[in-house]
Amino acid sequence: MGSDCLFCRIVAGEIPATVVRETDTTLAFRDIDPKAPVHVLVIPKEHYADVATLAQGDPALAADVLATSAAVAEDEGLLGDGFRLMFNTGAYGGQEVFHVHAHLLGGAPLGPMLARDLV
Ligand code: 5GP
Ligand code: ZN
Repeated sequence: MGSDCLFCRIVAGEIPATVVRETDTTLAFRDIDPKAPVHVLVIPKEHYADVATLAQGDPALAADVLATSAAVAEDEGLLGDGFRLMFNTGAYGGQEVFHVHAHLLGGAPLGPMLARDLV
């Protein structure tokens, strides 16, 4: 993937990002357009398009993304009051960047799971 993918370019250091945690296999950086006081994106360094592809292709790497998300949640002081961890996936999920990323959101009450009921 590489140069065609925004988040691969962040991993490669070609596009700057505010990195909050890095492991051998994952990177966590602040969202450029935060929707909550804490809004961090957690990605595997290796390119997978979405969470389904990642979980089916490399479950251990999916677990690394969760472990890094939990570590960032702790670093950001979110474990007490809680937080939301979210993978937008595909067209219905509203995914815009097709390199899998967990949105870690917190720092304030986040409101309902969806903006409105769909059923
Ligand atoms: P999605 O809609 O794919 O789940 O979320 C993509 C997220 O990536 C959005 O929240 C958007 O603000 C964020 N984003 C897009 N471009 C950049 C960028 O260049 N740097 C950072 N840090 N975040 C970005
Ligand atoms: Zn990528």
